[in-house]
Amino acid sequence: MSSSTTRTNRRIVLASRPKGTVTPENFRLEDAPVAPLADGEFLVRNLYLSLDPYMRGRMDDAKSYAKPVAVGEVMGGGTVGEVVESRHPSYAAGDRVLGPLGWQLFAATSGAGVRKLESADVPLTAWLGVVGMPGVTAWHGLNRILEPKAGETLCVSAASGAVGSVVGQLAKAAGCRVVGIAGGEQKCRIVRDEYGFDACIDYKAGRVDEELAAATPDGVHMLFENVGGALMDAVLARMNTFGRVAVCGLIAGYNGEDIALRRVRSILVNRLKIQGFIVGDHPQDWPIALKELGERVVDGSLKYRETIANGLENAPRAFIGLLGGSNVGKQLVKLD
Ligand code: NDP
Repeated sequence: MSSSTTRTNRRIVLASRPKGTVTPENFRLEDAPVAPLADGEFLVRNLYLSLDPYMRGRMDDAKSYAKPVAVGEVMGGGTVGEVVESRHPSYAAGDRVLGPLGWQLFAATSGAGVRKLESADVPLTAWLGVVGMPGVTAWHGLNRILEPKAGETLCVSAASGAVGSVVGQLAKAAGCRVVGIAGGEQKCRIVRDEYGFDACIDYKAGRVDEELAAATPDGVHMLFENVGGALMDAVLARMNTFGRVAVCGLIAGYNGEDIALRRVRSILVNRLKIQGFIVGDHPQDWPIALKELGERVVDGSLKYRETIANGLENAPRAFIGLLGGSNVGKQLVKLD
């Protein structure tokens, strides 16, 4: 077996900060030797990389809830992989792990933020999506902020995605009427037929207000917002008095687009309670959420889809696609 000293790492670094829309030129593929392990470190061969919308924010040098990636630094990101060498007492070659190990084939780590994956029942890739950060995001926003009650109507945008698809299925299990919003008839069909939502509005068809009114005869009690801008406006205006809103993401504005709310008056008129959240702020919920999500995946009551790009070199294109909606479900990259 080759040792870390003879291995070559391949990684993607931030080459430049995007001006508006992300382009392939904002990334650079590099090869570099893997440095020998220090005492207390282990080396992971990453098998799958998660691509997530939050990475767009990290490419900017703007104030946010997380530190930006520096130009020239490896792009950050969650991975699942296998330990190939260890000088750490708790990790051995062959262990499967999940961690924040970045857009690269190999990563040496002391174990900060890394977790061993011991359950063989959950498929490896699911730890990055439905039984991972996006799933916990859905669980927290729904259960801790929106607090659904049977019979209420919930609306969720980016409904076919990693977070939205879980929100809707959990809300259905809680006895709610669930209406999704997604881009295109194909995604809407998946949302209705596979995930069991009561209705799905194709916002690209351009009749959001009319379709929303038709799909929500009792109004909207809860909004799980993933997009922002005009779509958020449309749902805020349709909300019932004392409705609850969880602001999870505003992806319509991540490339700098204008996502100002034009119908902000709805907040006052409908006396809405609106709360933004970041899933990383709630470590106490992760084990509870992961247990439920894992059990639901294993018993088949929680469905999910993945879009998997092949090869690290294709990660930038897949990431740009994710921001534009080319993914169906969780966007991953299979690493060589
Ligand atoms: P998704 O799998 O949902 O992929 C992103 C989707 O967003 C695209 O497929 C696309 O779907 C939709 N989208 C992109 N641009 C637009 C637009 N202009 N208008 C409407 N829809 C758009 O990603 P995730 O499930 O990982 O993330 C969903 C949201 O949750 C994001 O906003 C993300 O930032 C947020 N998030 C927040 C977290 C938190 O802690 N607060 C943690 C994790 C995620 P379509 O084809 O339907 O347009």
